[in-house]
Amino acid sequence: MAQLSNDCFAFGDEMMNTEDALSELQKRLTCVCETEVVLLHSATGRILAEDVISNCAVPSYDNAAVDGYAVYFDDLSQSEDTSLPIKGRITAGHPLQQKAKPGSAYRIFTGAKMPAGPDTVLMQEDCTVEGEIVTILQGIDRGANRRLAGEDIKIGSTILTRGKRLRPQEIGLAASIGRESLLVYRQLRVALFSTGDEVLDVGDELKPGKIYDSNRYSIAALLGQLGCIVHDLGILPDKNDIIRKALKVAADEHDVIITSAGVSMGEEDYIRRAVDKLGCLYFWRLAIRPGRPIALGQILKTPFIGLPGNPVASMVTFMRFARPALLLLNGAADTQPNFFQVPAAFTYKKKKGRREWLRAILFISSDGALEAKMFPQGGAGVLSSMVASDGLIELAEELTAIEAGTLVKFLPFNEVC
Ligand code: AMP
Ligand code: MG
Repeated sequence: MAQLSNDCFAFGDEMMNTEDALSELQKRLTCVCETEVVLLHSATGRILAEDVISNCAVPSYDNAAVDGYAVYFDDLSQSEDTSLPIKGRITAGHPLQQKAKPGSAYRIFTGAKMPAGPDTVLMQEDCTVEGEIVTILQGIDRGANRRLAGEDIKIGSTILTRGKRLRPQEIGLAASIGRESLLVYRQLRVALFSTGDEVLDVGDELKPGKIYDSNRYSIAALLGQLGCIVHDLGILPDKNDIIRKALKVAADEHDVIITSAGVSMGEEDYIRRAVDKLGCLYFWRLAIRPGRPIALGQILKTPFIGLPGNPVASMVTFMRFARPALLLLNGAADTQPNFFQVPAAFTYKKKKGRREWLRAILFISSDGALEAKMFPQGGAGVLSSMVASDGLIELAEELTAIEAGTLVKFLPFNEVC
C-alpha cells in the first residue's frame, strides 16, 4: 500500500484560500489502494486502475443504420426516381450469403452487415415496393445510412484511461469491446465518527440540551455515493481517553478516518487533542463560509479528516475538500466537479477575501431563462436549506456584492453527491 508522508497535510497556520488548498491536496495525496479485478456489473462508481485498449473495432463491420434497402449509389439516377429488383434479404446477425451484384437492391435491417459492394442505404420510408421491385426517391447522398466499421472505436485505441471514475457509459463502452471485467482500485475503507456530548443517535429519546446526529448520516451517504466502504463507528463522547482509544483502533483498520465536530480551537474540542497525541494534526484555516477550520492530519499512518460540526458546514466542506481528497486517495485522476454559470435572481453582499457557498434553487424565469435564487436562511445549521436547494452557488474571494443578473458559479448537488 502506498504511504503518504507524515506532513502531507502540513500547510502552515496562515489563512488559506480554497484554490491553494485544493491544489495542495492534488500535489500531496496519492492513491493508497491496491487494485482488484471486478466484473462489469460491480464496476459502477469504481476508479479504473488500467488503460483500456481496444482489441477490436466497434462496430466491427459496416452496417445499416436504418431499416430499408442497400444499393450501389452509382445505380441511382440523379434526376429521377430509380427502380431496382430486390435480390436478397439481410437481417441483423445474418450476413448475406451470396455476392451482391450491381443493378440490385437488398432488403436490409438496422444493424445488419452491409454486403460487399452496396454503399448506401435508403430508408424504407423513402421507397415504394411493388412485388419484387423497389422504387427509390431521388436525392440521397452516397454512403447515407451506413455506419462504418470503427466509427465508434478503432482497433488499438485507448478507450478509457487509468483514474477514470466509472459511470454507466464507461461500463457500456467496456462491454462494447467484449471486456468482462476491469482492473480497478479497491474501495477506500473509511471509519466515520460523530463527536460531542450533545449528540444522540437516531432512535434514542430526545432529551433537553441534546440533538440528533445528522452528520453521521449525511456524511455516510456522501461516502457511499463516492464508492467508499463506510464503517459507522458511532458517536464519541467529549472524553479524551475514549476518543483516543477509538481513533487508534480505527486507524489500524481503515484507509481514512473522518469525524465531524470538536475540531475548532475551543477548550471543548477534544478531537484536536486526541489526534495531536496519536499522530499529527494540521488545521486548515480556510477563508470560507460556511465552515470553521477543517482539521487534517494522520493518526498513525492513516489520513484523518475532521469536518466542522454544523450540519451544512460539514456537508459543504465534505463536497469541496474531503471529496477530492478521498478521490485522490482512491486513485481518481479528475477530482473537481463541473460548475455552471447561472444568472443570479437575488442581491447579496459579502465580505471580501473569503469564499462563500449559498444554497440555491434553480428556476425558469418568465422570459424562459434559467436563473438561481438563494435559499433565504443561510445559517450553517439549517440543514433544510440543503434539502430545499438544487446546489450551491460558489462566490469567489474577491466578490463583494451580487446584483440581480450577475453570472454566478453554480455547483449542482448531483456533481458532488
Ligand atoms: P462543534 O464543531 O463541536 O463546535 O459543533 C458545532 C455545531 O454543530 C454545534 O451546534 C453542534 O451541536 C453541532 N453538531 C455537532 N455534531 C453534530 C452532528 N453529528 N449532527 C448534527 N449537529 C452536530
Ligand atoms: Mg462540540
